Amino acid sequence: MTHENGQTADEIACREVANRISAYLDAYGGHDRNARIALHLAGCAGCAAYARQIALVRNLIALLPECPAMPSNLDGLHRACAARRGQPR
Ligand SMILES: [Zn+2]
Repeated sequence: MTHENGQTADEIACREVANRISAYLDAYGGHDRNARIALHLAGCAGCAAYARQIALVRNLIALLPECPAMPSNLDGLHRACAARRGQPR
């Protein structure tokens, strides 16, 4: 089925999955919406691969150490960088 903007229902479903994959992975999209996305992932290899990539990146990010608070100005950033390198400034 083609919609008035030329997109098929599948293309719209793929776009919805792309837009909502993080909420889906957090199980934060509502039961009906998450069920619709799960159903789409089961039948769409492209979106399933995309979902696996996003899940992998999220898992890798979760392994990173927590970042220190960002300095609020450029001079503070330079001092923080120099301190990390062990160099006086
Ligand atoms: Zn898809």
